[in-house]
Amino acid sequence: MLIREKSAGAIIFRKEENRAYYLLLHYPAGHWDFPKGNIENGEKEIDTAKREIYEETGIQDVEFIFGFREVIDYFYYRNGQKVYKTVVFYLAKTNTKEVRLSYEHKGYAWLSYEEAIKRVTYKSSKKVLEKAHRYLL
Ligand code: ATP
Repeated sequence: MLIREKSAGAIIFRKEENRAYYLLLHYPAGHWDFPKGNIENGEKEIDTAKREIYEETGIQDVEFIFGFREVIDYFYYRNGQKVYKTVVFYLAKTNTKEVRLSYEHKGYAWLSYEEAIKRVTYKSSKKVLEKAHRYLL
């Protein structure tokens, strides 16, 4: 049986001296990706993104960039069960630099586009970052 999962999250950036820095989280499984999490019953995607950003980073001031929404999908195995997962990503600006991690991650980094593209583990997420960066130019 195929399990379906749907998460929502965001590419968070802040500006310093007119350059954008992107926030990446270090997942316990080893990969680097954006803040995201499971959409709860009846929750709107963007509300999930907001809630997960706050739970996973402590960041509350986020301004979503109108018109940006990208979806990726992948398969993975959880306890021998195949999972088909889709993740919706928004793009959001913050003025907060301090990050308060939850138990769900083991690290974070604010990186320039060039550094972030290298650090993000999966190709699908790299593509979303590429689109986000282009959208901001
Ligand atoms: P969430 O942050 O949505 O609550 P999670 O922390 O439970 O999710 P994922 O980040 O989806 O889990 O990781 C679950 C599995 O999928 C891991 O084995 C991870 O390596 C893999 N995975 C994560 N992102 C991708 C991707 N973009 N492409 C392929 N595999 C991925």
